[in-house]
Amino acid sequence: MADHKQSHQQHPAVSRQRLPKEIQHEHRDGNPAAFRWSVLLNSALSGLQLAIGIGFGSLALIGDALHNLGDVAGLLLGWGAEHLSARPANKQFTYGFGRSTQLAAMINSSFILMASAVIIVEGLQRFAKPVEVTAGPVAIAAFIGILVNLGSARLFGHNHNHDLNKKAAVVHLLTDAAVSGAVFVSALLVQFTGIQWLDPFTGIIVGLAVAWTGWKLLRQSVVVALDGVPPGIDMEKVESTLAALPGVAGVHHIHVWGTSTSQTALTAHILRNPQAVNDMELLHNAKGALAQLGIDHSTLQLEPG
Ligand SMILES: [Zn+2]
Ligand SMILES: [Zn+2]
Repeated sequence: MADHKQSHQQHPAVSRQRLPKEIQHEHRDGNPAAFRWSVLLNSALSGLQLAIGIGFGSLALIGDALHNLGDVAGLLLGWGAEHLSARPANKQFTYGFGRSTQLAAMINSSFILMASAVIIVEGLQRFAKPVEVTAGPVAIAAFIGILVNLGSARLFGHNHNHDLNKKAAVVHLLTDAAVSGAVFVSALLVQFTGIQWLDPFTGIIVGLAVAWTGWKLLRQSVVVALDGVPPGIDMEKVESTLAALPGVAGVHHIHVWGTSTSQTALTAHILRNPQAVNDMELLHNAKGALAQLGIDHSTLQLEPG
């Protein structure tokens, strides 16, 4: 077990990159205070937006609120899964609990897709049966959304531009600010033009954007559930790398899958040349080459050529 852990820790850069984005939220910071702040701020923001959106008839604002609520769910689920997956493997769960991050992504994506369906259906109904929007409070709540997201982006982005996960988190926060910005602009337009359908129209656009992030997250988690080859692993390269090793006559039965959203396993049968380098050396070379490709857990069977 200790041995096993060590080999995973050798390639943290490779393994971390493949976490689904909504789960990565959890890694916005790496420090618990920033995590707590982002849960608190996002919860408060979605509560406020939801109350004002429902109270003053703005579907666009309700859409923004549900999106932020999805972010909170993503943060909390990611946090729970991260804790669970840190538990060591045992006699019953021999892979450990790494896939709990994939389950969290799947649950979160179902939330997000349901929320977006509600927004889109409601938006279509409001075209037929318009709801009066009181634009002032809606604009204020949307403006607060812009401030909160820009503020968080500054908080998390400060001095961290070299880190890929943090960069993704900052990009997400800026996108969130842009969504609130769209709601803000639409509230102003409703105020000055009196065209009520602009609000459900913006709501539907927000709903579609939310659905897109939910769909991407669902697709990633389904790939893990079906033991698909994780993104970032090139199967042809894996095969050719193994085949090109000294002493290898052929490779078959290659399987590559993710044991969690961040760890990749492989099994393969290797035909060895009778007069080859010695077996231990061959295994050592093969494992080293695979680790270079981001596969940190390989099981190889040597067969006579
Ligand atoms: Zn978001
Ligand atoms: Zn075989």
